[in-house]
Amino acid sequence: MIELNVVSVSETQIPDEPFIARHLIDGVWRDSSDGTVFERVSPSHGTVVTRASKGGVQDVDAAVAAARRTFDKGDWSTSSGKDRATLLLRIADLIDRERERIAFLETLESGKPISQARAEIEGAADIWRFAASVARTMHGDSHNSLGSDMLGLVLKEPIGVVSIITPWNFPFLIVSQKLPFALAAGCTAVIKPSEMTPATTVILGELCLEAGIPAGVVNIVLGFGDPVGTAMTTDKRVDMVTFTGSTGVGKAIVKAAAGTLKKVSLELGGKNPQVIFPDADLDSAIDAIVFGVYFNAGECCNSGSRIIVHEDIAEEVLARTVALSRKVPFGDPLDPSTQVGAIITPEHQAKIDTYVRDAANAGAEIRLGGETLSVPGMSGQFYQPTVVAKVTGDMPIAREEVFGPVLAVLTFRTLDEAIDLVNDADYGLSAGVWSENVHTCLEFARRARAGTVWTNTWMDGYAELPFGGVKESGQGRELGKYGLEEFLEVKTVTMRIGRTRAPWVDPRSA
Ligand code: NAD
Repeated sequence: MIELNVVSVSETQIPDEPFIARHLIDGVWRDSSDGTVFERVSPSHGTVVTRASKGGVQDVDAAVAAARRTFDKGDWSTSSGKDRATLLLRIADLIDRERERIAFLETLESGKPISQARAEIEGAADIWRFAASVARTMHGDSHNSLGSDMLGLVLKEPIGVVSIITPWNFPFLIVSQKLPFALAAGCTAVIKPSEMTPATTVILGELCLEAGIPAGVVNIVLGFGDPVGTAMTTDKRVDMVTFTGSTGVGKAIVKAAAGTLKKVSLELGGKNPQVIFPDADLDSAIDAIVFGVYFNAGECCNSGSRIIVHEDIAEEVLARTVALSRKVPFGDPLDPSTQVGAIITPEHQAKIDTYVRDAANAGAEIRLGGETLSVPGMSGQFYQPTVVAKVTGDMPIAREEVFGPVLAVLTFRTLDEAIDLVNDADYGLSAGVWSENVHTCLEFARRARAGTVWTNTWMDGYAELPFGGVKESGQGRELGKYGLEEFLEVKTVTMRIGRTRAPWVDPRSA
């Protein structure tokens, strides 16, 4: 067994009874119309964490009907920015109040470390506060230069009913990158969290009601992609779908939504490179490499899973990355010192392992890990921090999302070669560069095809800054003022002032 930093098992008590999650439809908590339920087993502890109502087409129909009716009634969609901001701020305060409860359930459902779940909930509350600020400051345009007899107005209006579909890896954060902006704009919503992590979205629903969000504005349907997600993307009464998840499902959603030509905004996968130049501050770069690949056990759209390092320093960077990887504390997610927790499902663990085996069979070199691991006292699934060297650009491990704690290391000689490797990808979510030369960093930032470029840092995010991908990493943006714009429709009002228009037909003609 390789030498790794496995933390001790936490003494935190696991609840005897699962969390009961039900649909929220028109302000009322409901069982499924056919009474069926499903269970989520903790990936770390092996116990049933949540028992959730299993939605069907009828439940989606009721939720969409409530959202449509509420939107069309107009009380919410025409309420003032001030009133909406007040509610969003109240929800942010309630999220802070419930932080421990939310973080605990998120950890048990997802397997992520409790310290990271807490940070995620804090970050989410901050986004709700930011969204309150844009609810009050959003506005359209006026055009006063169309001639003395004309005035043009560009109104920003809520797009309408929004379907929100989220993944399991950051369940509370991702719904908080969408819902507060939709509400700030005046939209109504139907939300479907991942079937792996329904509990924290249900708690968010509770907090929305407690804050005073009117019935029918926020609706939640629990269940699986088919039939719940499918019905939410094909229903004619839905105006927009905002989806975060895999590129494959994103493409299916575009097709499903095409039937009614609804707007679709997508946050999808990534195969994100960090490029290390010889003049980089290696202490910081190696720490960022280790953080970038093991954060959330690598189950992260922004995972820095591809390192492209200059040949001259490749051996040093590899050796130091392996040494630091051995020190990463992993194991029981409930232990506050844990940095890497469990893998979401046994099937996903097997998929990660296949990528590593295939790379080794194709000539890559496993420098650390590459094995599943049983953590003493834990019944769930864990994967060792893994570093794979001698990876070439054509290997699946260099091109596809592994979504695990697995680093693929490639090398380059010139900046052009590095940029070619960066851009030789179907994905374009984020990219990073490490160099003390500002010209190298800026040239990289301009030439990398990615929605976000980090220079001498990795994965910093702010509510003010837009986030999203190019190519097959998605379309549209979240956060910042761009995140709000996604939920707004533009209406042009063209006004004539006075009766100055020359008649099209002369009424005096014969
Ligand atoms: P997934 O695509 O399997 O599922 C996401 C959601 O879509 C779930 O709620 C699922 O039930 C639902 N779904 C499944 N099939 C559907 C269908 N046909 N129609 C409608 N909904 C359907 O993704 P996942 O495994 O939950 O999450 C991991 C993926 O999410 C990774 O690819 C990751 O990169 C991506 N992700 C992207 C970002 C980003 O911001 N770019 C953030 C987090 C995760």
